Amino acid sequence: MKSKDKLNFTCADCGTGSCSKGDGHFPEFCLTTQLTEEEIADIVELYNKNEEVRKLAIAGAEVEGGFYGKYTRVEEIMEFARRIDARKIGIATCSGLLNESRIFARILKVHGFEVFGVACKVAAIPKTEIHIGSEYIRRDGEPLCNPVLQAKLLNRNETELNVVVGLCVGHDSLFYKYSQAPVTTLVTKDRLTGHNPVAALYTAQSYYTRLLDGNWQ
Ligand code: SF4
Repeated sequence: MKSKDKLNFTCADCGTGSCSKGDGHFPEFCLTTQLTEEEIADIVELYNKNEEVRKLAIAGAEVEGGFYGKYTRVEEIMEFARRIDARKIGIATCSGLLNESRIFARILKVHGFEVFGVACKVAAIPKTEIHIGSEYIRRDGEPLCNPVLQAKLLNRNETELNVVVGLCVGHDSLFYKYSQAPVTTLVTKDRLTGHNPVAALYTAQSYYTRLLDGNWQ
């Protein structure tokens, strides 16, 4: 590999993880070594001086460090909520995962949280209303996923931490964009892997070799 090609590399090409290990053996293209002292100082200042950023960063670090390998993600979310003083939890759920969201809501309530949940099909607006192509509509009157309204209803109800349960790719993007409260994700939708998308990466050199085929579509 020529050096100039390496200049286009990023962390997504890195096999060393030296920034995490702290061993000082950074690769030639390392983003860490390209930062100026001022840029690093600015970020540190943001974490220290911005109240909201600080609260989320400290709580996230405490949950990670304090319960590493001990808590399920459900428990981590509750611990994180407690540490940012969020008592009212919003659930932005896929309509296909209402059973799972009901269980999650029950767990939250058992632990003293208030819950407000909104399903993705809320308002039951037909997909045709926003001119989605007919080839993408499986039945007459099929309602569109409505992540913007999910966020707006949670915003109106002043939820303090919102949790995504299985929103579709892209619909989750809109939800993250419109949510006023911080968002974390409990379930990442992947219909083929039982909502375990990393399975496709673990098996990209066996069952899912098609993913590494440049002509997969
Ligand atoms: S910051 Fe440097 S060492 Fe860390 S993952 Fe990126 S390229 Fe690799």
